[in-house]
Amino acid sequence: MELDFAKGGGLVPAVVQDADTLQVLTLAYMDEAALKETLESGEATFFSRSRGGRWRKGETSGNRLKVVSVTPDCDGDALVVAVRPMGPACHLGTTSCFGDADAPGLGRIAALERTIAERAAADPETSWTARLLGQGPKRAAQKVGEEGVETALAGAAGPDEELASEAADLIYHLLVLLKARHMSFQRVLDVLADRARPAKGDG
Ligand code: AMP
Ligand code: ZN
Ligand code: ZN
Ligand code: ZN
Repeated sequence: MELDFAKGGGLVPAVVQDADTLQVLTLAYMDEAALKETLESGEATFFSRSRGGRWRKGETSGNRLKVVSVTPDCDGDALVVAVRPMGPACHLGTTSCFGDADAPGLGRIAALERTIAERAAADPETSWTARLLGQGPKRAAQKVGEEGVETALAGAAGPDEELASEAADLIYHLLVLLKARHMSFQRVLDVLADRARPAKGDG
């Protein structure tokens, strides 16, 4: 990776993004040593401008950032660091340093998939998701069938509000079914991406 540290006085800005929800979590700076440590350790490590030295994010709070990929920009003076956060990225306790909102737009689906995965270990007495997952894929599949029919009925005749609500039920139960089958939503996205690719011989 050819990076231009000189341009920024030894530092390059690093946009830190959630690898799954794509939410921008924070902006920090890396010097050459921080980048090296990031790549070698697999945990985002920065150069703290306020403290003037090495800063492994989460070293005191526990909210570490597990690195999925590091991508330089077109002219090598900035980085995008895709991570899986182990807690809030902001020291104020929010997921992102940029406002207190959770994952925007379609990132909400990835955030829901993550919540469902976390609930797999929860108490079935208090968590509907844990109870569903405990009943196996057939029960989840049955719920997808029910919600599919409810979505279809609402889509054919119901008010907008009902269609939106049933569609949300359907997506939630679909994610539970995928989890019960140990399949990631990424696998579904891969199928969609394949289909979006022009077929051989076209264009
Ligand atoms: P941490 O790296 O999460 O263990 O936090 C250690 C210290 O780093 C905090 O007390 C803050 O001073 C600072 N810090 C942590 N996260 C951020 C952030 N996202 N933006 C700015 N400063 C931060
Ligand atoms: Zn650039
Ligand atoms: Zn912050
Ligand atoms: Zn429903």
